[in-house]
Amino acid sequence: MTGPAPVPDRVREFLSRDHGHYIDGHWQRSSDAAMLESLNPATGRHLASIARGTVADVDDAVRAARRALTLPAWRELTPLARGELLHRLAELVDQYADELALIESLDNGKPMSVARAVDVGTTSKLFRYFAGWPSKFEGSTIPLSPRNNLEILNYTVHEPVGVVGAIVPWNFPVSMATWKLAPALAMGNTVVLKPAEDTSLSTLRLAELIGEAGFPPGVVNVVTGTGSVVGAAIAEHPDVDKVAFTGSTEVGRMITRAALGNMKRVSLELGGKSPHIALPDADPVEVAAAAAEGIFFNQGQTCTAGSRLYVHNDIYDDVMNALIDRARNIRVGPGTDPQTQMGPLVSSRQLATVSSYIDSGVEDGAVVVAGGGRPVDLPAGNVDGYFLEPTVLVETTHRMRVVREEIFGPVLVAMRWNDLDELVEMANDSPYGLAAGIWTGDLRAAHRIAGAIQAGTVWINCYNLTDPASPFGGFKQSGWGREMGRAVLEQYTETKSVWVNIT
Ligand code: NDP
Repeated sequence: MTGPAPVPDRVREFLSRDHGHYIDGHWQRSSDAAMLESLNPATGRHLASIARGTVADVDDAVRAARRALTLPAWRELTPLARGELLHRLAELVDQYADELALIESLDNGKPMSVARAVDVGTTSKLFRYFAGWPSKFEGSTIPLSPRNNLEILNYTVHEPVGVVGAIVPWNFPVSMATWKLAPALAMGNTVVLKPAEDTSLSTLRLAELIGEAGFPPGVVNVVTGTGSVVGAAIAEHPDVDKVAFTGSTEVGRMITRAALGNMKRVSLELGGKSPHIALPDADPVEVAAAAAEGIFFNQGQTCTAGSRLYVHNDIYDDVMNALIDRARNIRVGPGTDPQTQMGPLVSSRQLATVSSYIDSGVEDGAVVVAGGGRPVDLPAGNVDGYFLEPTVLVETTHRMRVVREEIFGPVLVAMRWNDLDELVEMANDSPYGLAAGIWTGDLRAAHRIAGAIQAGTVWINCYNLTDPASPFGGFKQSGWGREMGRAVLEQYTETKSVWVNIT
C-alpha cells in the first residue's frame, strides 16, 4: 500500500471548524448549541463537529425559504437567468472537485476515485443538466370540447410547489442532495435540506458554493442534525409544501404519515433488493466482474446494488469460481489510499447491522464462500475502522432474511435457476422494485425478462448506470415518483390550468 493521500491545509481548516447551519445566506448556530461529532469511518476517530439542529432551527430555515419565494431576486429571475445560476454552481463544483471528493471520502469512507468520478462528477453534471430546463419546461394549449358553443382558450403553466424539504442519506451525500436541489431550484422552489448526520460535510461545503454562485439568501438552507429531530420537524412542518426523501422504506413511511398534516407533496426514493440475472449464454467471467461491481461498488451501500444474483445452472459453477476469486482479491482499506478498491462502511452501526445479516444468513443455512468477517491486514491506523470483507453467500433461499431484506452492505446472495418463468417469479418475489440487471447475448430473452420484471430500472449487459436525463425510481416499496429527467420536474411543480372565455 502507498498509504493515504495527505490532507491539504484548506480541507484541514474546513474540518476544524465548528459547523453551523446555513440559513438565509448566513452560517448560524446559537452559542450554546449542542454539537454532533462526525467520525472518520476509516479510523473510527473524530473528523469534524457539526451543529445538532433543533425544531427552532428548522423553523428559522423554513421562514427564510418562505420569504425567499417572494424575493424579486428569485421570483422574478428569468428562466435563462435561473439556468445561469445553476451553470455557475456546476462550474464551482468542478473547480473544487478534488476538495469535495476528499471531504466525501473522509466523511463517508468511500474510495477517493469513486467520490471524485461518481459523487462529485454526478453533482456538477446534474446542476448542468437541470440548468437547461427552466427555459424548456413548457405548458400546453389544450383543445377542449365545451358546452353551449363556448370558445375557450385553455392552457397550462407549471409553477413552483413552494418550500421543499429535502431529507437525504449518507451513501452518496453531496450527490443525493443534488438529486433534490437541482430540479427543485430549476423549477423555482426554495429548499430546506437535511443531510444525514453521519455525512453532512460535503453538503456544508456545497452550501458555501451555493452562496458563492450568487443564489439569493434563503433559496437554499441547510440544517444539520438527527433524523428524529431535524428530519421529523421538516416532514411535519405546516409551512413546508413538499418533502423529497431518499433513505429507508421504514423512515419513508414515517415521513409520509407526518406529511399528511398539511397534505405535503411527497416523493420517496427508498430501498432495493435488486436481482442481477445471468442467462446460460452469458460469459461467466464478464458476469462475475459485473456481479462483483454491482454489489461491492460503494461498499454495497447503494440502493440499486445487485444484491440477489441469479445464475443459470449451466454457468453457475464457472461464474461463482470467478466471482469468489474477485471478491477475495478486492483491496479493502481507507478511501484516501489510492490503492483502495473498497472502503469501510459508513458507521459502526451500519457495520453491526450488516454483520448481523451475515450471521442470520448462516443461522438460516446459507454458506459463506467469500469474506464474512473483518479484513485481517489493515494498516495500524485503521484497525478501529468499520471495515468488512466483500462477502458472498450461497445455498440461499427466498425464505431467508438475507434474500428478502435490504442489507445495504457488501453482501451478495447467489442462487441458481433453470426455468425462465421461475426465474421471473423469483426476481419479482420481493417487496422492492428498484432495479434489475440481465446478462445475455439473447436480446429477445433479455427484452422479454425486462418487460416482466417489476423494477423502475432494467440494465441489459450493463449495471448501475445513471444519467440526469433518464428517469430513476422504484416500483412497489422502492418509492413514489421519479427522480431525474423530465419526469422529476412534475414532482417539483404544480400544474395550473387556465380557462379563458374567448367566445
Ligand atoms: P434512514 O432512512 O434512517 O436515513 C435517511 C435520512 O432520513 C437521513 O437523513 C436520516 O437522518 C433521516 N431520518 C431518520 N429518521 C427520520 C425521521 N424520523 N424523520 C425524518 N427523517 C429521518 O437510513 P439509515 O441511515 O438509518 O440507514 C438504514 C437503512 O436504510 C440502510 O441500512 C438501508 O437499508 C436503507 N437506506 C437506503 C438508502 C437508499 O438510497 N435507498 C439510503 C440510506 C439508507 P440521520 O441519518 O441524520 O439520522
